[in-house]
Amino acid sequence: MKSYDVAIIGSGPGGYVAAIRCAQLGMKTAIIEKYSTLGGTCLNVGCIPSKALLDSSHHYEDAVKHFETHGIEIPGEIKVNLEKMIGRKQAVVDQTTGGIDFLMSKNKIDVYHGIGAFKDATHITITGDKKDVIEAKHTIIATGSKPTTLPFAAIDKERIISSTEALKLKEIPKHLMIIGGGVIGLELGQVYKRLGSDVTVIEYMDRIIPTMDSGLSKELNKVFRKQKFNINVSHKVTSVVRNGDEVTVTAENKKGELVKFNGDYCLVSVGRSPFTAGLNAESAGVNLSDRGQVEVNGKLQTSASNIYAIGDVVKGAMLAHKAEEEGVFVAETIAGQKPHIDYNLIPGVVYTWPEVASVGKTEEQLKELGVEYKVGQFPMRALGRSRASMDLDGFVKILADKSTDEVLGVHMIGARCADLISEAVVAMEFRASAEDISRMSHAHPTFSEAIKEAALAATEDRALHI
Ligand code: FAD
Ligand code: NAD
Repeated sequence: MKSYDVAIIGSGPGGYVAAIRCAQLGMKTAIIEKYSTLGGTCLNVGCIPSKALLDSSHHYEDAVKHFETHGIEIPGEIKVNLEKMIGRKQAVVDQTTGGIDFLMSKNKIDVYHGIGAFKDATHITITGDKKDVIEAKHTIIATGSKPTTLPFAAIDKERIISSTEALKLKEIPKHLMIIGGGVIGLELGQVYKRLGSDVTVIEYMDRIIPTMDSGLSKELNKVFRKQKFNINVSHKVTSVVRNGDEVTVTAENKKGELVKFNGDYCLVSVGRSPFTAGLNAESAGVNLSDRGQVEVNGKLQTSASNIYAIGDVVKGAMLAHKAEEEGVFVAETIAGQKPHIDYNLIPGVVYTWPEVASVGKTEEQLKELGVEYKVGQFPMRALGRSRASMDLDGFVKILADKSTDEVLGVHMIGARCADLISEAVVAMEFRASAEDISRMSHAHPTFSEAIKEAALAATEDRALHI
């Protein structure tokens, strides 16, 4: 039987990053993955393929709607070849997951393909093409999550689908109905809207992206309505019925009335649930919470002291970069170091266009905490850069402590905000004041100037270009 310092179950961004860090720290490391490719949800059916389709569909939309304004004329009809588009997405996925194979071998990490299940706290059975048992001093559970289902909306993978099927459809839906106005619903909704589908979003809460700052929800809602999305908030879906190629979704609105929607596809994107099936956690003395998450303490240690858990399978934001931070944190903890994660500074991004990005506290949270704050907001449309590219929607909003001027939250919507948010993370990591940001030079013309202007507005209400 092979023995390891650390075994990792699950090869998503949490697991594979943990494996690399363990190996870097000199530990003999194994990783176990039940699928034939490494990379987990993120690389195979999540972050990477969804961004590939967002990019392809964005090019198409530009070609159809915006090229002419730029003086670019394409003779003849511009058409989508969906098969080719999905094929390119898959090529990107294959290349990216292949890169993880390379990283595992470069770092001399043993890779096992099969379902990992605890025999006890130090032994793991791996059931794949063949059966293996390995011994591990420490184990990191990184088994991720799966789509949450609604009891009345069984995913048939044909017409009633999850994000996994939405990433490989064989035709462009005529009318895609989306249950859930969260991140997946809006990102994939925008892909198919751009490709020509009618898109209806049905959201239970009173706004889309309800966990983000409400200013962002309002602006994104405005933009999406301009893009002709049919958005229905405060609608609780109560039934989903397929009849041949048609699906009927019934929802209850605020007045208690039943509203029916008919379309050819229904995407169920109502969140994701921790995945621990087949792990046999109880055999190792690992406790699960009522919500099915692996219970961990502040060191991400489970109820079995040599077993840790990270990523989507534990509490907190279900984000690839959160999982990665936790992977590094646990590897360094096992190596005897004292790492730290500031969960307040994990940014959240929605990769629609305009992009939406956030870090720190929202206005709603600051109000709830009773923190006195000031707001500096600057519209993207006032930037020369925005006019040059015609990306006029959105704003940057900085929330700063009323007495100390420390930046407490940054919320932005607009072109390239997914990348711009890093400046806010750096600033907050170093506990910058709004004035600190306002005194730094920002290259002109860039979208980042909106951050400087919002900081000026927060410091002394003296934005320059408005
Ligand atoms: P996962 O990536 O889910 O990996 C877990 C792995 O464990 C899987 O490969 C699974 O097969 C394996 N496994 C499970 N049980 C066993 C077992 N018993 N034995 C062996 N292997 C096992 N996040 C972002 O930050 N940015 C984005 O842009 C983004 N886009 C997304 C788009 C979509 C459509 C979806 C669905 C998710 C997206 N996410 C995004 C979320 C992101 O994918 C997850 O937060 C991230 O993958 C979590 O990483 P993880 O390592 O915890 O788990
Ligand atoms: P989500 O939590 O973002 O959104 C789900 C939405 O569904 C919520 O707004 C919720 O109110 C709504 N909902 C729940 N039940 C409903 C019902 N019965 N009727 C109508 N609406 C209902 O979840 P998601 O979009 O499924 O994404 C899952 C996870 O994947 C998220 O945690 C997210 O962090 C991650 N993800 C991240 C990214 C990114 O970082 N860009 C992209 C995709 C997914």
